[in-house]
Amino acid sequence: MNLNDSRILVIGAGLMGAGIAQVAAQAGHQVLLHDSRAGAAEAAKAKLAQTLEGLAAKGKLTPDAAQATLARITPVAALAPAELVIEAIVENLDIKRALFAELEALLPADAVIATNTSSISVTALARGMKAPERLVGMHFFNPVPLMKLVEVVSGLGTAPEVAQAVFDLAGRWGKTAVHARSTPGFIVNRIARPYYAEALMLLQDRAATPELIDACLRAAGFRMGPCELMDLIGHDTNLAVTKSVFEANFYDRRFTPSLVQQELVDAGFLGRKSGRGFYRYP
Ligand code: NAD
Repeated sequence: MNLNDSRILVIGAGLMGAGIAQVAAQAGHQVLLHDSRAGAAEAAKAKLAQTLEGLAAKGKLTPDAAQATLARITPVAALAPAELVIEAIVENLDIKRALFAELEALLPADAVIATNTSSISVTALARGMKAPERLVGMHFFNPVPLMKLVEVVSGLGTAPEVAQAVFDLAGRWGKTAVHARSTPGFIVNRIARPYYAEALMLLQDRAATPELIDACLRAAGFRMGPCELMDLIGHDTNLAVTKSVFEANFYDRRFTPSLVQQELVDAGFLGRKSGRGFYRYP
């Protein structure tokens, strides 16, 4: 199986979907971008135009390449057929399953469906699908154009050739692909969850401020501290991932969600994307 020349439908034009659309279009694919929120795909494309212009101004892309990349991205109001679908919608099992049912009714039999889920079992997501072998995890990291890693996640039913085709494609896009099995949190999030959880405990104990925690971890050699990183991920997404990993690990206390996280979500302080999280963003 070869996805190198595939037309790609990206579903979800939020933080991750927009980044995935950019990377795929830069690699030469025709990309359809869909979001259930009216206007969201168009808004994402307008933002990508600014990003690509910025890259061209910095000399990282030629102006022609920037133009051509943008021209390959088409916002679509409805789901449309493609050889590869990459979904980056809300982190919710039932909503993702409902989307896959809709997709199966629409897609050619050999189309691949990749999910960018951070934490939901690929095995469980495939349950109820007519062809569970075509579902695979393609877990990008934020920000997608900058982060090299892609975890290619196989569930119990994923066909090895599907996982390999997605692995090869990610490599062609300049990413470092790794194969992972669908265990809770896969590889990176399994390790990262306790990193966030411990920072949240420090905050709940009023032992340190977000500024102090982040400064300490940066000084210790981490690229970003946990609080600024959670602001980048988005607290709604991060809380959903925490809950999912906690449940999937049979409520192991190492993965306990935090009231601090819950409060931020309740307040709508979702991080960078909403202008305020632990920090404020202009
Ligand atoms: P986001 O909130 O920025 O964007 C999600 C988008 O999906 C929104 O624009 C929303 O309108 C749209 N959407 C929701 N339901 C939809 C549906 N049924 N059909 C079409 N569009 C729908 O979220 P995000 O941060 O981009 O996360 C998306 C996915 O990527 C999640 O599964 C998340 O776990 C995963 N992920 C996130 C990160 C991160 O750092 N934020 C990293 C890796 C993976």
